[in-house]
Amino acid sequence: MIPFLDLKSINQQYRAELIEACTQVIDSGWYITGQYLEQFEQNFAAYCGSQYAIGVANGLDALILTLRAWKELGKLQAGDEVLVPSNTYIASILAISANDLVPVLVEPDPSQFNLDPNKIEAAITAKTKVILPVHLYGQLANMPEIMRIAKKHQLLVLEDAAQAHGAQIQGKKAGVWGDAAGFSFYPGKNLGALGDAGAITTNDVELATMLRALRNYGSHEKYKNLVQGVNSRLDEIQAAMLDVKLKHLDNEILQRRAIADIYLTQINNPLLQLPLQNVNAHDYTQHVWHLFVIQTQNRQALQQYLADHGVQTLIHYPIPPHQQPAYQQWNHLSFPISEQLHAQVLSLPMGPTLNKQDAEKIAQLCNAFRA
Ligand SMILES: *Cc1c(COP(=O)(O)O)cnc(C)c1O
Repeated sequence: MIPFLDLKSINQQYRAELIEACTQVIDSGWYITGQYLEQFEQNFAAYCGSQYAIGVANGLDALILTLRAWKELGKLQAGDEVLVPSNTYIASILAISANDLVPVLVEPDPSQFNLDPNKIEAAITAKTKVILPVHLYGQLANMPEIMRIAKKHQLLVLEDAAQAHGAQIQGKKAGVWGDAAGFSFYPGKNLGALGDAGAITTNDVELATMLRALRNYGSHEKYKNLVQGVNSRLDEIQAAMLDVKLKHLDNEILQRRAIADIYLTQINNPLLQLPLQNVNAHDYTQHVWHLFVIQTQNRQALQQYLADHGVQTLIHYPIPPHQQPAYQQWNHLSFPISEQLHAQVLSLPMGPTLNKQDAEKIAQLCNAFRA
């Protein structure tokens, strides 16, 4: 069986380094908000090119707390509207509703899976305050264009960068385009902890200070509470694990790109539509291939056929947010692009330890598939 993602083999590459880092944390006698978190925050901010990184408990909290911080800072209030892609993972939307803000779903460009800038302006109302682009599957949304629209309408921009650590356009990485960005270090993400973890990047010192308070009971100074915060801290042990893995991230991205290149150059079955990289002649772009997502009208048959030949695939995601029971108020609405994507997407195995022969075998199997 070729697994969809082999997390064990990824982490085993760094086993000795991870154990050494773990031992250091154990022996330090300090397990929450200490030197390992601080070091990882500095290193991750430097990697992204941002002024600050603030570690939190997970990616969802990174998004929730950023919107919450903007409320505390008087930049947002309950009822304000946030534009978000209609095909995103549910977490982007949960972060909006958790803050009593109103998610406004905007259809993606189906060839890129990301927010279609041409559809953003039509969705802006007097209540719109934030654009929340999601860099889905590892490719940046069209940030130059989204930032132009945001500036024109004086909107805040919160990037959901949970799937795009290291992805770039014009040499500028995920996490430094918007006013802030939320990252997830869930184990299966491109930069994954050995448990839950997340972070926010920003260049705004006021926001960074508020976030540091919010994640720690609203306390900026011990036993003094500025705001009604939560407990959402990134543990020392996970920070130490992440610091080890951050050093290898660029190399892992290259390994993912090598697999993507095999799929892109070798799969040529007209029943399958391959993902497009953002093709803009003079922009240097880097897709980090969190997922390799094809589209096909024969998804169920293809998935079964690949499974029968020992290849595990997954669907990201089978049900669009507006059809989820959790968002009943949208169940009667129609988002045709998103609905078609949810019916046709299939993710092929992708990861830094997937070997080239297996990727070639998968490409050949795809080519031999008949509806
Ligand atoms: C994984 C993910 C999140 C949430 O991250 P967690 O760490 O699992 O809370 C948010 N948005 C997107 C697009 C994701 O893929």
